[in-house]
Amino acid sequence: MKKLLIVANWKMNKIKDEAKNYLEEFLPLVKDAKSDIVIAPSFALLDYMQAKLKGTGIELSSQNMFFAPTGAFTGEVSADMLKDFDVKYVILGHSERRQYFLETDSFINKKVISALSNGLKPIICVGETIVQKKADLSKEIVKEQLSIILEGVTEKDVENIVIAYEPIWAIGTGFAMNASEVNEMAEYIIKLVQTLLQTTKKVKVLYGGSVNEDNASEFFNAASISGALVGGASLDAKKFAKIILG
Ligand code: PEP
Repeated sequence: MKKLLIVANWKMNKIKDEAKNYLEEFLPLVKDAKSDIVIAPSFALLDYMQAKLKGTGIELSSQNMFFAPTGAFTGEVSADMLKDFDVKYVILGHSERRQYFLETDSFINKKVISALSNGLKPIICVGETIVQKKADLSKEIVKEQLSIILEGVTEKDVENIVIAYEPIWAIGTGFAMNASEVNEMAEYIIKLVQTLLQTTKKVKVLYGGSVNEDNASEFFNAASISGALVGGASLDAKKFAKIILG
């Protein structure tokens, strides 16, 4: 049986009181869960979440980071700062970062290299727009994104990176992609990463895009999908626990 990796992306939601209520409900529900669980709260909650998650087996992720180690970069957060809060993963290249903060593949590449060299595991988001999908360009787009984002990443890091395939048209829309189509894309991504990094090892591919408690098992049952990156449904403790418990 594969061990699933299920990641909550809280985006810009929740203050301490809300996180407290959430964890009081969520932690007892998932205490015997068999999957690896990761929560990505806002930077502002990392200190609080680090304390609350200690000893639970649930890992912390950040939703972003900057690639420079220190310096005059107002508003940014470095890998070292994240490690100070025992953060293990970092979501990079989310489509909302690309859309609202104009992040490019080569910019994301610098972050990936910095994350890896600092011992953080990047959860790298890729995926096509609806226009690109309709033009049958999904694989080409993902190939272009990963070819740039993974420049300089070596075979020894295959186990330290996670690819989140997130078709942009499926994020937050309620229209999840069909599981067999996602599985086909996951197989494609695994082979692509094998070629790019010259390895026979298989990278973990998560699916993200309107995953909820009703459809999650379809993705988890697909052979090449290793888990999910969950946005909206992860904000509700019961729903996220249901996704994890099946
Ligand atoms: C996401 O933002 O990464 C995401 C998958 O969101 P949602 O689950 O709400 O579609």
